[in-house]
Amino acid sequence: MPNTDYTPWYVSPKRPCQLSDFDTEPPSKGQSTESELEDHLVDMGEKLDKLQSTLHAAKTRGLLVVFQGMDTSGKDGVIRSVFTHVSPLGVRAEAFGVPTDLESRHDFLWRIHAKAPARGEMVIFNRSHYEDVLVTRVRGMIDEETCQQRYNNILHFESLLHNAGISVLKCYLHISKSEQKKRLQARLDDPRKHWKLQPSDFDDRELWPQFTQAYEEALSATSTPESPWYVVPADSKPYRDSFVAGLIVQTLENMKLKTPKPTFDLSKVKLT
Ligand code: ADP
Repeated sequence: MPNTDYTPWYVSPKRPCQLSDFDTEPPSKGQSTESELEDHLVDMGEKLDKLQSTLHAAKTRGLLVVFQGMDTSGKDGVIRSVFTHVSPLGVRAEAFGVPTDLESRHDFLWRIHAKAPARGEMVIFNRSHYEDVLVTRVRGMIDEETCQQRYNNILHFESLLHNAGISVLKCYLHISKSEQKKRLQARLDDPRKHWKLQPSDFDDRELWPQFTQAYEEALSATSTPESPWYVVPADSKPYRDSFVAGLIVQTLENMKLKTPKPTFDLSKVKLT
C-alpha cells in the first residue's frame, strides 16, 4: 500500500522540478503485493464514495482533480479505476481535446472555467488548461512571453477557485519512455486498441525531451500549497491507482467536511 505521506511526490514551489528526481516505479522499500494494492484501492474507493456524499450534502467545498501526463501514461485508466466505487451522480469527468474554432477565439481559460466544479461537486479533468502551456509550447504555437503570462493566468485562476472553496489537486502521471514504448507496442499489437492511436502519439514520442522540459517548467511555475502538483509513479498501474485514490481521499479528509444539520425537527415527524 502506498505510503500515506505524499510529501516526497509533492512538487515544491521552492525549487525547480526535475522529473528525473522522481521515480516512475513504486518505491522498492515496503513494496506491496498486487493484491494488497487492489484491497487498498477498494478501501479508498469506498471511502471516496462516502466523502463524496458528504461533499454533496455540505455544499461548502468542491474538488477539481486534474490529470496530465504523456500519451499512454494512464489518464483514462486511473479515472476508471479510482472512481469505480463512486456514484455516477457524484462525479463529473471532463476531457479536453484540441480547442474548437469557438474555443480558440476565447481566452484559454474560458472553456475550462465553464467546466469547473461548483461547491458540492467533484470534477475530474482528463487533460486541462495545462495543455495550453504544454503541447502549445512544444509545438511552437505560443511564444515564451505568452507562456509566462499563461502561468500567471493559471495561478490567478486556481487561486480564484481556492477562494471560492474549490480545491485543485493536480496529478502528473509519470511514466518512463521505455514503459511508453511497451504500451504503444501493446496498442499496435491489439487491433481492438488501434482506434486509440493517433499520428501525434508517435510524433510526440520523438519530442519526449521537449515535453519533459515543458512539464518541468509548468509544474515548477504552478505548484502551490493550495493547488499542488504531485508526480505520481505511473509505470505500475495497480500502484498508480492506489496512490491516486489515497491522495484524493486525503485531500477530501483534510477539508473536514460536515453533513449539515436537519433544517426541521425530525422528532416531530410521525410516519403514518
Ligand atoms: P487522449 O490523447 O487524451 O486520449 P484525444 O485523442 O482526444 O485524447 O487527444 C487530445 C489531443 O488534444 C491531445 O493531442 C492534446 O495534446 C490536444 N489538446 C488538448 N488541449 C489542447 C490545447 N489547448 N491546444 C492544443 N491541443 C490540445
